[in-house]
Amino acid sequence: MFNKILVANRGEIATRVIRACKEMGIPCVAVYSEADAQSLHIQLADEKICIGEAISAKSYLNMDNIIKAAIDTGADAIHPGYGYLSEKKEFAERCQENNITFIGPTPENLGLAGDKIAGKNIMEQAGIPTIPSSPGAIDDIEEAKRIAKEIEYPVMIKSSGGGGGRGIRVCETEEMLVDEFSVAKMEAGAAFGNDAVYLEKFIVEPRHIEFQVLADQFGNITHLGERECSIQRRFQKLIEEAPSPRLTPDLRKKMGDAAIQAAKAINYFNAGTVEFLLDKNDQFYFIEVNSRIQVEHPITEMTTGIDLVKEQIRLSAGGRLDYTFDDLTIRGWAIECRINAEDPARGFLPSPGTIEEYRVPGGFGVRLDSHIYQGYELPIYYDSLIGKLISYDLTREGAIQIMKRALEEFVIQPLKTTIPLYIKIMEEKDFQNGDFNTTYIQRFLPEEGEDDEEDDI
Ligand code: ADP
Ligand code: ADP
Ligand code: MG
Repeated sequence: MFNKILVANRGEIATRVIRACKEMGIPCVAVYSEADAQSLHIQLADEKICIGEAISAKSYLNMDNIIKAAIDTGADAIHPGYGYLSEKKEFAERCQENNITFIGPTPENLGLAGDKIAGKNIMEQAGIPTIPSSPGAIDDIEEAKRIAKEIEYPVMIKSSGGGGGRGIRVCETEEMLVDEFSVAKMEAGAAFGNDAVYLEKFIVEPRHIEFQVLADQFGNITHLGERECSIQRRFQKLIEEAPSPRLTPDLRKKMGDAAIQAAKAINYFNAGTVEFLLDKNDQFYFIEVNSRIQVEHPITEMTTGIDLVKEQIRLSAGGRLDYTFDDLTIRGWAIECRINAEDPARGFLPSPGTIEEYRVPGGFGVRLDSHIYQGYELPIYYDSLIGKLISYDLTREGAIQIMKRALEEFVIQPLKTTIPLYIKIMEEKDFQNGDFNTTYIQRFLPEEGEDDEEDDI
């Protein structure tokens, strides 16, 4: 096992990883930027070390400083969390060169998963259903027009190096394609340092259903069931649940097998997620592999009883995976709401500030993963995710009731958050019936141009 783990991240996921280290009896080091000196993750860790200025490029994305921090503190492993350096092949290689274990997939895995086009081609060869798309990156608009006609509108422009819903555009007509194509390319270049874009057929009103996978270094791979992540804004998840109310045992088996096949096709190691879209005719399509711990991992932990972060650490230390999905008892239902400091009534505009009044929910079936506290001032430099509220019960209905009750207890003042929106969703009939898809959230948003001054969400 490791002597000391450095946690190369911030926010709720840093606290999550530090908690796992504590329970495993492994000393841990928190890193922080100059803007994060007040963050809870630093207070929880055994050691702390500043890695640079507020902007992420100079701190949380600064490989030199992070590797140096690990060497200086004697850490022999780094947990990268999600986002930041978690899927950077070069970072995993740099760790290796310095005899530090990168707690995550291999550099080869990261190289493939970070290149959506290459990843997709491998899956196609492995016989996994994928969405009709351009065979590779598209350079000019004439080629884009030709291919869009072939795969038929509506089409989606996607960025090969993209993530977090960024760099995605839907085009219903050739006119829209012409308008969006060069902008999308420019945006992808600026956001991901890789301006490769490709076209994919747009699946109308799909559900996003993904499978958690775990793999050891000896070729053992299993999945741990699915997560339903269809409630999204701007192609980013807001509410997730496990299991999915949409899957039948038969479909679960087919998709779970495909997820394992996908992981095997790229020789996957450690924790990862295979994402699929499911259309109205029960046809599912591979979209991507996320090579890291996922934001929504807690709901899988609640229904399987397996601590995924501890499993990541154990597998990276050479541990064996000695169970498969069939050995697990999937019990009950879990729902996660991503608590964002954003104003849903204003296009999810970030709402930073200082937390003056803070009251957390508790009681049976409630879990809160967060890094905030009373008096905490949200830095303006980072993501607006301030916590994840998870409810758990033996039934879906019970998990919804617990979530609604917990959301109502939750006070974070004076910030605008997504909490009031989630209370409405918990009370909404289609959600309660499990009848929704990736367009669901639209009904709660103000119409374009509408004066939303009095809207209370
Ligand atoms: P998931 O696929 O795990 O559901 P997302 O794809 O939305 O989640 O992205 C994971 C999280 O990491 C999000 O909170 C996102 O904002 C964050 N993230 C992604 N890339 C970066 C980055 N480069 N810097 C900081 N945070 C990032
Ligand atoms: P990211 O890397 O940003 O997470 P994904 O490929 O996983 O990108 O897609 C994010 C979301 O965008 C999906 O969950 C889904 O809602 C939507 N999406 C992606 N591809 C398609 C598609 N071909 N048709 C319809 N919706 C899609
Ligand atoms: Mg995705």
